[in-house]
Amino acid sequence: RAPELKTKAAAQVLKAAKDKEHPPPPPNNVVEPPSSDRKEGMVYEVGKALGRGGFAICYEGTPAGSSKKYALKIVKSQMPTKMEQKFQTELQIHSKMRHQNIVQFHRAFTFERCTYLVLELCPNGSLMDMVKRRKGLTEPEVRFYSVQIAGAIKYMHAKGIIHRDLKMGNIFLDKHMNAKIGDFGLAALLLTGKDMQIMRRTTLCGTPNYIAPEILEKGKKGHDHMVDIWSLGIIVFAMLTSKPPFQSSTTDEIYRRARDRDYEWPSPENSKKYISQEAKDLVATMLQDADKRPDPDTIVGHPFFTSGYMPVASDITYKLREIPPQ
Ligand code: ADP
Repeated sequence: RAPELKTKAAAQVLKAAKDKEHPPPPPNNVVEPPSSDRKEGMVYEVGKALGRGGFAICYEGTPAGSSKKYALKIVKSQMPTKMEQKFQTELQIHSKMRHQNIVQFHRAFTFERCTYLVLELCPNGSLMDMVKRRKGLTEPEVRFYSVQIAGAIKYMHAKGIIHRDLKMGNIFLDKHMNAKIGDFGLAALLLTGKDMQIMRRTTLCGTPNYIAPEILEKGKKGHDHMVDIWSLGIIVFAMLTSKPPFQSSTTDEIYRRARDRDYEWPSPENSKKYISQEAKDLVATMLQDADKRPDPDTIVGHPFFTSGYMPVASDITYKLREIPPQ
């Protein structure tokens, strides 16, 4: 198959194919072998390239006899151990998620030494692309996306999952411009409730010398999951200003600024856009120490959401369709 070079995504994928870690572009037809729930197997007609990630490439795929398009996320079946581990976690966790703001996982199979994930197609790129193109969103739009992302975080945390890698580049846009969290490569299982009790019971039979206090203290939850709330704070800031708050040329400097909460809102003179005090206050609450960060329900009850206009989905779709593509 001669890959087309018409789009940026296609060029990216072709470049990725030259790295050893990425798989080659797929053939025109990809064959899902028969399985217990699909005895005949399936053939997918491969469409246009969607992009590449750290080790995956993505193409559109349409099952034979259907007109519904999916995203095929393709990785090499044989990967270096560390990547293999990342991919296994991703597969296990993502396949258990079912939420309107999480990219729906449909199935996984192996074909010609590659693993294929069949995912819900998000044809409008990532939130990062959109925010860059628009140089920041309006406050009603930020409300719309923040509520969707907070809802997905609430769902993940209730299922005992911490995403750990929430960023605008990992949030994709479906055909109605809804936000969908994708890429569960760094997600982890959080021990809560019953699991925590079981662990407490079993660990307490042995020596507690090595056990962190939050595991021993009954009723006290760890704050690990609050890393996702921090990320949401960064995302909200970036949606409003089009830049993350601690952006610097070196990683050390980013860490230092994050530790010191050293960030500034654009001054009204330099920025054509008005940013409300409620928006600023919301971001500040999410960037507090882990034990002080609000949970998703508290976040959506913040005055930023309750005191301003909240668009409905059709407003967003209509408005964003008006914006010409790059
Ligand atoms: P990795 O896990 O290797 O980082 P990603 O999940 O980020 O890979 O996918 C790579 C690229 O493929 C993304 O940046 C995006 O452009 C595209 N992509 C991924 N998932 C979808 C999807 N569900 N719908 C449309 N495009 C997608």
